Amino acid sequence: MPRRKHPETLAIRTQAERSRFNEHSVPLYLTSSFVFEDAETMRAMFADEIEGNIYSRFSNPNTTEFIDKICLLEEAEAGVAFASGMAAVFATFAALLKTGDHIVCCSSVFGSTHTILEKQLLRWGITHTYVDIHKTDEWEKAIIPDTKMIFVETPSNPALDIIDLDWLGKFAKKHNCILVVDNCFATPILQQPLKYGAALSIHSATKYIDGQGRVMGGIVVGQKELMIDIKAFLRQTGAAMSPFNAWVLSKSMETLGLRMERHSENALKVAEFLEKQSDVESVKYPFLPSHPKYAVAKKQMKAGGGMVAFIINGGLERGKKFMDGVEMASLTGNLGDTRTIVSHPASTTHAKLTEQERLASGILPGLIRISVGIEHIDDIIEDLEQAFKKSK
Ligand SMILES: *Cc1c(COP(=O)(O)O)cnc(C)c1O
Repeated sequence: MPRRKHPETLAIRTQAERSRFNEHSVPLYLTSSFVFEDAETMRAMFADEIEGNIYSRFSNPNTTEFIDKICLLEEAEAGVAFASGMAAVFATFAALLKTGDHIVCCSSVFGSTHTILEKQLLRWGITHTYVDIHKTDEWEKAIIPDTKMIFVETPSNPALDIIDLDWLGKFAKKHNCILVVDNCFATPILQQPLKYGAALSIHSATKYIDGQGRVMGGIVVGQKELMIDIKAFLRQTGAAMSPFNAWVLSKSMETLGLRMERHSENALKVAEFLEKQSDVESVKYPFLPSHPKYAVAKKQMKAGGGMVAFIINGGLERGKKFMDGVEMASLTGNLGDTRTIVSHPASTTHAKLTEQERLASGILPGLIRISVGIEHIDDIIEDLEQAFKKSK
């Protein structure tokens, strides 16, 4: 067998079949449907007897190319692309669970995922238990006979908690649960949860995969058997990724490896800078030796990624003052962009949670999240330095 190419190469060299024009760069297939040679081919394709494109809600050459790339990088059997990360998260729950089922979820989880569990799934009789990832005995206690799924984020948004995937993969297997990992912060370049026994890996492609703050997208990859139900759910309910977004995301994949290298290099320098500041209570970054799960992060991630979280002295007011003090960094809700972004979860993404829920998710009033961009590191540090001075 030929040697498997490196992920950076696969992300560049995997592409849709060339058309009769022999284009070098894959064109955009803006078409809602596809034509058939004859009635029999059309019948067979609708009956799933032969593979092919029928209608862009089901599949399209651009979305297929994007899915193929992520599957290769995650070493997954199959995948399904969605209009957004949340559409992918919701479809995973809705396609695989039914009334009476139970989910075990880590307490530090993306705000909208938290809201789906509380506001949507409970209405349909799908219950959940949150567990603190640092307390292994709590995991055992959380499992009940109806537990069908374990859902985690690692690193988590925004607290940057790390879960030992090797341990969790074995735990999920022992309890016969579907392990789902939201792999958004690490990207398929830095971490492959399926290797540790996760059944599914989910991404908000809106973040690092696009990487330039342009389009929305989501993807689930993993076991073929589960993907059949997820794909059928998408086909009927319609939250499909648009071919245009898939085309943009597929091109973005070509630079993902390079971008993650620089994001990680810059973020480590920002984290080290923050640790030296007297106004900073604590810093969280997977590849900082002070991270409580540093050894685990080093074991399961290729680099620390671009996200850094820190607690500024002085709580909510000081946090907002710091946000107002930055000049170059953007104040925006996105992350994973080439541009450095600062955000204050307690007053924005997690404002809908109760104070108690926020604290359980590790979101203190002074928590500031930095999505470290790929600008020159000296300019990023200088911006943060002057923001600290101004916020005093
Ligand atoms: C942003 C994000 C999502 C949701 O993705 P969208 O593309 O915004 O719908 C899910 N999980 C994590 C960890 C995220 O950061």
